[in-house]
Amino acid sequence: MEKPELECIEMNSGFINEIEEGSGIKVSACFQCRKCTNGCPVTFAMDLYPDQVMRYIQLGLKQEIRESATIWVCASCETCTTRCPNEIDIAGVMDFLKQSVVKEKGQAAEDKVLAFHQIFMDDIRKRGRVFETGLVGKYMLHSGDWVTKLKDRSILDEMLLGWTMFRKGRLNLFPKRIKGKAEIEKLFNNSL
Ligand code: SF4
Ligand code: SF4
Repeated sequence: MEKPELECIEMNSGFINEIEEGSGIKVSACFQCRKCTNGCPVTFAMDLYPDQVMRYIQLGLKQEIRESATIWVCASCETCTTRCPNEIDIAGVMDFLKQSVVKEKGQAAEDKVLAFHQIFMDDIRKRGRVFETGLVGKYMLHSGDWVTKLKDRSILDEMLLGWTMFRKGRLNLFPKRIKGKAEIEKLFNNSL
């Protein structure tokens, strides 16, 4: 029988070093048991499973990871990190990968999630906490969602929801700052 042709993968060991040195997380310890993937609540929306992301990093498949939707779909719930028998902080790796794309001003497979991520992180950096009212407005503008919502008139439902939340004290009209802002700034400077 004729053997199928195997595709050769060019290894890029620089990528795993970049991740391990930058994040302090030992991805090379992953032995592919898949406990992370089996516990992840959002695998249904992923095109690469968490254990595959770990394997791709080991193989140096940087571009494939950056083009995948997985890092943007990850909800940072940390279930994977808790389950890993080798104490690999998989959620931390996902965060690190997201931040690398933002830092290098790369394109994301999920542009709207990238827009949300950037606005959310900018808010935290600026005030130490999220100002939800401003975040919704900025997200609508950046993602272009306001156009769709205006056309199908669902923007009225959003406004009604906003008004109900405001009446119940769940939305503020003005942003608030936290006391430890300098510490937050330090965290950003150390991680970016
Ligand atoms: S942190 Fe992300 S990858 Fe890990 S279990 Fe939660 S959603 Fe899945
Ligand atoms: S649980 Fe840990 S060791 Fe197992 S596949 Fe996931 S990252 Fe690798």
